[in-house]
Amino acid sequence: MSFEIRILCEHPDVPRIAQTVLASVDATSVRRMPTSDGTRTRLYINADHRSNHADCTVCDDDGMVLWALPNGSEQRRPCTGMDYEDLLAAGLVRHSPYRQTWRRSTHD
Ligand SMILES: [Zn+2]
Repeated sequence: MSFEIRILCEHPDVPRIAQTVLASVDATSVRRMPTSDGTRTRLYINADHRSNHADCTVCDDDGMVLWALPNGSEQRRPCTGMDYEDLLAAGLVRHSPYRQTWRRSTHD
């Protein structure tokens, strides 16, 4: 059964919150919108309960991904089901100027 998550937060917190929330579910769509006064961010996430990621195209079957940190090192993080380009396009990484609605492509 799918469900919807709505988040209201400060702009700089978006990458961290998105990582935390998206890593705990299997998102099917994510939309980032500014509030009407532009001072904060709204995230609308449609999701299913998290699967075991056995069929995931982003991670290597174990539900984890290697994530490049700004200091050049890497960290293992829970897979969000979105690769870096997806996160960039949806405005979910630092300094991303884009705000496109992301939808999981269906392979089945
Ligand atoms: Zn995955």
